[in-house]
Amino acid sequence: MSQPSDGNKRPKRPRGKVRYIEGKCIACGGVCQSACPFDAIDINDQGEPIIHLAKCNGCRKCIKVCPTEAIELFYTPEEEKILSEYYKTDDIKKTAAKLSTIEDWKGVWVFVEQIGGHAHSVSWELLGVGRTLASDLNVELAAFLLGNDIGNLAEEAFGYGADKVYIIDDPMLNHYQTATYLHGCVSLIRKYKPEIVLMGATGLGRDLAGAVATELRTGLTADCTGLTISKEDRLLEQTRPAFGGNIMATILSETARPQMASVRPRVMSKREFQQGRSGEIVRESFLLPEQTLLTKILEIIPTQSQSSVNLAAANIIVSGGRGMMAPENFAMLKELADLLGGVVGASRSAVDAGWMPHAHQVGQTGKTVKPKLYIACGISGAIQHLVGMQTSDYIIAINKDKNAPIFEVAHLGIVGNVFEIVPAMIAQLKQKLSHAENKSKIAV
Ligand SMILES: Cc1cc2nc3c(=O)[nH]c(=O)nc-3n(C[C@H](O)[C@H](O)[C@H](O)COP(=O)(O)OP(=O)(O)OC[C@H]3O[C@@H](n4cnc5c(N)ncnc54)[C@H](O)[C@@H]3O)c2cc1C
Repeated sequence: MSQPSDGNKRPKRPRGKVRYIEGKCIACGGVCQSACPFDAIDINDQGEPIIHLAKCNGCRKCIKVCPTEAIELFYTPEEEKILSEYYKTDDIKKTAAKLSTIEDWKGVWVFVEQIGGHAHSVSWELLGVGRTLASDLNVELAAFLLGNDIGNLAEEAFGYGADKVYIIDDPMLNHYQTATYLHGCVSLIRKYKPEIVLMGATGLGRDLAGAVATELRTGLTADCTGLTISKEDRLLEQTRPAFGGNIMATILSETARPQMASVRPRVMSKREFQQGRSGEIVRESFLLPEQTLLTKILEIIPTQSQSSVNLAAANIIVSGGRGMMAPENFAMLKELADLLGGVVGASRSAVDAGWMPHAHQVGQTGKTVKPKLYIACGISGAIQHLVGMQTSDYIIAINKDKNAPIFEVAHLGIVGNVFEIVPAMIAQLKQKLSHAENKSKIAV
């Protein structure tokens, strides 16, 4: 902000205060009060908010959470006067000009990640959340895909909710390379100006999203666990764990476009596939000359994975934590998982202790999973573990501490000793299976 020529300091730009709009409160239980970081809201006997203006600092958190829009922002006449002075200054005009260009960016785009013509399921999960965002903004949902001979994926994208599909199909995009995919993505985004771009937080997506955001000079929120639209200003609210997972931060990209976010596989849910749903396909050419590339892929040789476990795709996971006490005790979790047709997961404590390989770790620094059944054995339920599994369809927690936080997300909680309960479950299952006609694995 430029200073007035007389050198006097300009008064601080007012943030406004909030007030209650009489009659609109539905006595929801004090959501606004809980959201207020300044303790500026009390609730009266009718369940309505009483706002203490002296404490309010205009942060607007209460406005955002109010389900009935019963709270609004206002400025006092003195504040209005200061604001009007602000609007007269050159730099505000510049900001206004910048903001007006933001209006040109419209639509929600999802990057469809594919290898060899097979799309990564995270792309369809992102179309699921993208559909909600696009509806809230009343704009189009588009998928964009790059590759060689990948036209068939457009149909899939329509089936999972895209209204439009942008395709760059070129032999130079046969294998993923940062330079080629970066060029393709940036040229599409610059031309069509989507306001929101979502990518999967996979190895490829992490590499590409960062490069694209840097090239476009925009923000990128990685590993989001929640994406919503702010009713007030149509901004994308990007929620993710911060400070080692101890708080959930909601991040806004107010002045740059597109608003970019990446999301790990299995965090969002895909919509049911709609056979025969169609939309518009827009094809663009790839214009990067091959000579400009510094590297060339000659051959792709798959590496031998240290562990064949595919936690992210598993329908049943039996996970163990520090409560398992020793590496050999994971054998009983393996036995239970085998009987159920599942795989074994682990908390970070168990992995750090060397009881299980890192490929089995569930959580913020491990895998995000969303199985049909998640059994947590001797796991306390630290937030960093919960962010990786709390969206599982059904969670059973076994813990000897009845106050363990894992019980807050569990659908069924068993307070007891894991060394008694798991063997009992195994015995029961064996008995049931021996009675089952075909002795096949139990289907969930
Ligand atoms: C930046 C960061 C990232 C992290 N990332 C992850 C991550 O990805 N995944 C992750 O899991 N953690 C992660 N953590 C670690 C996390 O904070 C916890 O320390 C960890 O999840 C605890 O693991 P735990 O529940 O196995 O162990 P503990 O917290 O020690 O819990 C053991 C539990 O076992 C129970 N128990 C003990 N004996 C028995 C018994 N016989 N029967 C039944 N119950 C029993 C206890 O009551 C206790 O609740 C991260 C931490 C940080 C700071």
